[in-house]
This record gives sequence, C-alpha cells and structure tokens, in this order.
Amino acid sequence: MSIRIELADRIKNLPPYLFARIDAMKAEAKKRGVDLIDMSIGDPDMPTPRHIVEAMKSAVEKPEHHKYPSYEGMISYREAVSRWYRRRFNVSLDPAAEVLSLIGSKEGIGHIPLAFVNPGDVVLCPSPGYPVYSIAALFAGGEPYFMPLTEENGFLPDFSAIPEEVLKRAKIMFLNYPNNPTSAAADDDFFRRAIDLADRYGIIVCHDAAYSEIYYDGRRPISFLEVDGARDVGVEFHSLSKTYNMTGWRVGFAVGNSEVIAGLGKIKTNLDSGVFQAIQEASIVALDTGDDLLSSIRATYQARRDALFEGLSEMGVGVTKPDATFYLWAKVPDGFTSEDFAVHLLDRAGVLGTPGNGFGEPGEGYIRFALTVSVERTKEAVERIRGVL
Ligand SMILES: *Cc1c(COP(=O)(O)O)cnc(C)c1O
Repeated sequence: MSIRIELADRIKNLPPYLFARIDAMKAEAKKRGVDLIDMSIGDPDMPTPRHIVEAMKSAVEKPEHHKYPSYEGMISYREAVSRWYRRRFNVSLDPAAEVLSLIGSKEGIGHIPLAFVNPGDVVLCPSPGYPVYSIAALFAGGEPYFMPLTEENGFLPDFSAIPEEVLKRAKIMFLNYPNNPTSAAADDDFFRRAIDLADRYGIIVCHDAAYSEIYYDGRRPISFLEVDGARDVGVEFHSLSKTYNMTGWRVGFAVGNSEVIAGLGKIKTNLDSGVFQAIQEASIVALDTGDDLLSSIRATYQARRDALFEGLSEMGVGVTKPDATFYLWAKVPDGFTSEDFAVHLLDRAGVLGTPGNGFGEPGEGYIRFALTVSVERTKEAVERIRGVL
C-alpha cells in the first residue's frame, strides 16, 4: 500500500537542468583519474580569514546566542552593515528600518517575489543570469520576462526593447552588477535609467550586488543606492559569501526602501527564524575590520584574471577583460556550441568551464571560467586549452 507521490507543478515544470550532462561528465572524468582543472565553480577556493573564524569561536561559546535570533537580525549586526555602507558607498541607512539580515543573499532573492508578486504579474530578469531570479518569480506564481544581456549593449538590458504591455504588468526587476556570468559593470547613468523606468511603471528594483567587492585595477563598483531616487524604488542585496570567502556560513543582507524591506521581512518571519547570532557576531567583525584583507583577496584574483585573460586573448579567444567579479565570459570558437566547447575542453584538456547557455539562451556562444583556482593552475589551464584549440 502506498500513495502516489506527485510533485507540485511549480517544481515539476521547472526548466530542465542544463548542467546535468556536464556534471555527469565531470564525475566520470574524476573516476577515470583525470587531473581536472575545475573552473566551473563560483565558490572561493580560499578559506575564511582567520580573525573572522576566531570571532566565531568565541561567539559560539555564548549561551545568549544559542537561542532563536531576532528575525530581522541583531541591531548590532544591522548597525555594522550601516557603518560599512557609509564607509564604502557614502550612503546612510537606518539600521532599524532599512537593513535586514539574510541567510545568504540567495535566501532573500528567492523570497522577495512572495512579498510583492501576485499570480500573473511579470518579473523582469536578466538573461544570461543567476537562475534564482526567474525561479523565484515562478514559485510566486509570477511570469519571468527575460531581458537579454548582449555584448552590443555592454551586457546591460535594453529597456527600450521591453514592450509597454510587459512593463505595465511588471512588479519586480532584478538587476545584478557587477554581473554574474558576464562580469560586466554598471555605471550611475544605467542605474538612473533603471530608476526612471521603475518610477514610471511602479516596478520594485532588486539589485543583486554580491560581487561589489571583487573588483580590479582600483575600479570600485558603485552601489545602486548611491544614485538619486534609488531608495524610492528598490533595495540592494549583499552577501558576505564572495567578499570574505564565507559561502558556507550563509549570511547576507538586504538594504534600501523600508517598505520593501518590511515586506520581505514579513515573508521571512513566517518562514525562517533568522541567522544564527554567533554568525552575525563574526560577520560584524568581518564588516568592521575586513578592508585590508580585501585588498589581498582582490590581488589574488587579479593575478589569475591577468593570466587567464592574457592567455585566452593570445589564442584569439574573444574575451573582455573584467573590471569585477571572479568570472571571465569568453566567446566559444566558431563551429562550437557552448555545450560542445565545454565538453571538448573537459574531454581533451581536463579543463571545466560552464557553458553560457546554462544561464539563459542569450548566453549561447559563450563559456564562463571562474577564477577560483590558483594562478599556477590557471596558467596550466591556459596551456592545456592552447593545445586543443
Ligand atoms: C553567489 C551569488 C549569490 C548568492 O550568494 P549567497 O551565498 O546566497 O549570499 C547571489 N547572486 C549572485 C549573482 C551570485 O553569484
């Protein structure tokens, strides 16, 4: 006797998982003992800085942290976020109303459509893009509308190409700069145009700034909230994951428009119980004292970026030098699809990149390499790729 277990439509009808074939091939290559250089992973290879780990060790001893945390985050954590924002972007935030702790920024991004999207509402999502935007829209009963990011437009969405009828039904627009996977950056002029559009059509802008601290040559990305009017239309998501090598800790924050923050907070109070307070305490230390450390983390990525960018350019592979993020978005050579080329590199060179179409159809013709392997291995990857082109 057993019941029929049937998945709900919202997960049954998810778009197919495009990396499944690559994952299977990767597992198979490992089994064969291939010395794989895996540049497909968007997860820092460096450990969390020592002093943050030490702060966690003492925080975890404190019995007051063993209880349920406050839903919106300890006020001391939200104050640390405000201090960091003021120092880094010269933006003032009210820690009580304009800052919310998140269990990683993915959690906040995944939940925010539940607060504002009714069935049939449109959610504008960049494509190629972080898959969570459109999936979160679908989970809330919304309809993702994909804004293509193309090289001709500097990998920025062309707002004039979005039909009026779509804009009128849009509730949320996700943006992400510095961008994963294209590594493009946005300037204040772009954000100003996004704010104008949002204001005209009543769209909430959700800007994902997960890579704001991974930048090169001193070209510091700006915050969406630095631009006039941003706080009237939206919020910005940040994460300690990529900045401080803390992906496993699950901690981030959303900042900006207090009504949007309150709406997201309302969803979260009903679904989760906040971030472990010991993690918040260690995160305060990270935000308050991490600046010097960040320059050494950036220097490490920059050496890898230079090695890979120069190597690929010399071979004639089309690639723009990224100003930020730890990704390189490279054109696949003529005659290959994204997936063919990823398979070719894996099979023939033992180098793994992520096929660009996995991030959305406009990513076809590209491959993403993550700078999450050492500079020596990056150079070796360049040599191996040269051998099979
Ligand atoms: C890694 C990543 C995130 C998620 O980071 P968290 O670990 O959940 O804070 C969000 N957006 C983009 C674009 C990312 O690449």
